[in-house]
Amino acid sequence: MKFISTRGQAPALSFEDVVLTGLASDGGLYVPESIPQFSAAEIKEMRGLPYNELAFKIMAPFVDGEVSDEDLKDIIDRSYESFRHSAIAPLVQTSHNEFILELFQGPTLAFKDFALQFLGNLLDFILEKRQQKVVIMGATSGDTGSAAIEGCRHCKNVDIFILHPNKRVSEVQRRQMTTVIEDNVHNIALEGNFDDCQNMVKASFADQSFLPEGRQLVAVNSINWARIMAQIVYYFYAGVAVGSPDRKVSFSVPTGNFGDIFAGYLASRMGLPIDQLVIATNQNDILHRCISANDHSKQPLEHSLSPSMDIMVSSNFERMLFDLYDRNGSAIATLMDEFKSGSMKLSDAALSRARELFSSYRLSDEAVLAVIKDTFEATEYLLDPHTAIGVEAARKTRRSNDVPMVCLATAHPAKFPEAIQKAGCQDPSLPHHMQDLFDREERYQVLDNDITKVHSFMGDHIRT
Ligand SMILES: *Cc1c(COP(=O)(O)O)cnc(C)c1O
Repeated sequence: MKFISTRGQAPALSFEDVVLTGLASDGGLYVPESIPQFSAAEIKEMRGLPYNELAFKIMAPFVDGEVSDEDLKDIIDRSYESFRHSAIAPLVQTSHNEFILELFQGPTLAFKDFALQFLGNLLDFILEKRQQKVVIMGATSGDTGSAAIEGCRHCKNVDIFILHPNKRVSEVQRRQMTTVIEDNVHNIALEGNFDDCQNMVKASFADQSFLPEGRQLVAVNSINWARIMAQIVYYFYAGVAVGSPDRKVSFSVPTGNFGDIFAGYLASRMGLPIDQLVIATNQNDILHRCISANDHSKQPLEHSLSPSMDIMVSSNFERMLFDLYDRNGSAIATLMDEFKSGSMKLSDAALSRARELFSSYRLSDEAVLAVIKDTFEATEYLLDPHTAIGVEAARKTRRSNDVPMVCLATAHPAKFPEAIQKAGCQDPSLPHHMQDLFDREERYQVLDNDITKVHSFMGDHIRT
């Protein structure tokens, strides 16, 4: 299987190369050249499969033998053994034909573990084979950093540096990163805000001459194809659990960068009979404005109670646009060029095609608090603020009550105690394995917002 750029100008890459590559050289994102298909009979056979076996079936056609079946199975097994629940992605019923897919059973209590546990193991495997070492550098405002660190802490061939804005991430989130004490894990608390962290990372990718000879930077944000691929699996897992392919299924997805929901779109292209995909956003609602009113324009970032969805522009949306424009790379390049001005309009054809599958809805912080409280009172089920957005968006936009609606629970409520308290619910306790989080030793380096200081710190700590 080859992977091609959404802007049509960059060279096609093999699976292993695409895992080691971030943006394509033409500024686009990599997508598979063709989408594997599963027939209804093949999907029927997925019923009852354990998560890992299903993951192998879904991912193998993309990997296409570049990693042997045996090795891929081993990478998958190691990636999901750190999950606390033996179902990996348990499904809980909250109302008639309404379900919650708990994607927070991984080591850092957010769905990002599904992709980043896998990516860490996959990267190390590819690098070992090639006798190569790389440096991961990333900026985080919370969930991505801890999931990436947990995913890479045991990697022999990866040194990871995660920048967070000093004193501007929650204490749970900071401790999840800084209590991982390993030779290859380095947390930098930058004196600045999240944008400063992101700018520092961007500038470092643009000029990598500060790295030791033979090293390159690798991105672990959701532009990395392997992350999207690993997320397709749980759509099939939930779909067959509620009766697919004989029954249709719908999903509601709390959305920031459009990575998670794009995986759902791919599941539908691969044959899962998805009736509706709900794009659920907070007040940073560029995607909701785009789907509902063809208004894809940048607005100033607002801080919300669902910080992992505080995103101005959703980078993976470009992958979706590529399909909506019949995979015409030059049309996407033109569209993205238009968007440099801060806004773009979709063609009527693209928009109406998107609306066949997608609905969208936006929730304010106030509404989120009410949903958390009402749901807890009705069912004693505690939603985290991101998941609450998905649940309410599903209820508001649902097209059919006969089709099961699966709401993706993207984080455990204990990660966001402030919102839970504000909603008037009892403080959620951390799962057993994290109860001593506040007693664990922390290690991190506070640095000025100065690129030479950051690079010299990195130079001192990259393993030889
Ligand atoms: C990252 C994240 C999201 C958004 O996911 P995208 O793939 O960026 O759309 C939603 N909820 C939580 C808890 C997250 O950590």
